[in-house]
Amino acid sequence: MQVKHHPLAQGTPGTRREILTLHFGPIGTRKALLQAALHADEVPGMLVAQHLREALTQLEQQGRLRGEIVLLPACNPIGLSQWQLLAHQGRFDANSGENFNRHYADLSAAAAQRAAPLLGPDSQANVAILRRCLRECLAEQAPQTELESLRQRLLDLALDADVVLDLHCDCESVLHLYSATPLRADAERLARHLGAELCLLAEESGDHPFDEACSQVWWRLARHFEGRHPVPQACFAATVELRGYADVSHALAARDAQGLLAFLAEQGFITQVAAEPAPLRRAARPLQGSMPLHAPHAGLVVFARQPGDEVRAGDLIVEVIDPLSGQKTALLSPVDGLLYAREQRRYANAGLRLAKIAGEQALRSGKLLSA
Ligand SMILES: [Zn+2]
Repeated sequence: MQVKHHPLAQGTPGTRREILTLHFGPIGTRKALLQAALHADEVPGMLVAQHLREALTQLEQQGRLRGEIVLLPACNPIGLSQWQLLAHQGRFDANSGENFNRHYADLSAAAAQRAAPLLGPDSQANVAILRRCLRECLAEQAPQTELESLRQRLLDLALDADVVLDLHCDCESVLHLYSATPLRADAERLARHLGAELCLLAEESGDHPFDEACSQVWWRLARHFEGRHPVPQACFAATVELRGYADVSHALAARDAQGLLAFLAEQGFITQVAAEPAPLRRAARPLQGSMPLHAPHAGLVVFARQPGDEVRAGDLIVEVIDPLSGQKTALLSPVDGLLYAREQRRYANAGLRLAKIAGEQALRSGKLLSA
């Protein structure tokens, strides 16, 4: 294992933060990158990374790694440091209010322009050229803030990776994945290895989250050069939601780490006979079919259903009760679908999103992710 330190631009005098990366396996081969806790208060991914670190150390000693595996066990040092009134604030940058998993650079147009005179008929040579151009275009973006510096460093580490897995969690939820519609086959294989209950797909989910910034450039570049130069889909990326904030146990983390390693073995990074995974729990569904329920007024939150419940349109999901007026509002499921995530707090202000139900029909448009 090789350890590398990547300093961020200085945020305030007297401080200097850095990203830590752990590198396993032969460098210069295919590359997989797994990062935990981009939302820095999401602990399940950090524990899975700890299990991965131990397993990968052993696999490396046994000579069983066939590609480079880069692990970021806690990739957001800004978010790790943010505490306010005894609560960890790891989702939003306290300085700007921006979500740490949004606004990664879309480099496809700039890289296409730079690479156009260099490309030829060999698709693998084109991948190498485009990766170099993508990283050059990213390096030319001068970050103004520590947050922008974090985004640039993380994306730079991932832009030449064949596989990118971003480990997150939801509030209270079942294990689920977000990936891209063009990547459906690999996303469903990953879902099977993890035993995920749900896989949500979109081509454009809005505000450019990290996984999309890594994978989306490839189908955009392929379309740009269609009929002129072959450009394969050179990166599979997914966001893995490792259940809820409080689902932190060695039993779950060991199982999840084994699932991720089995997927990496199937992708050619580890020599191990990966057993055929269990069947897919349910076919991937459109992210546009994920229906949120919002609190229409402030009040106590009393759930009637659990994450993992299959619900029907019209089923009671949650009640919101104003403690002073006694007003009680029942929120019903708008669709048949899987209740896959719900809020962990039990007091809501008006507008708080309380639950998400994944239906089979694409009913929404615009920005599909939460704040
Ligand atoms: Zn997250």
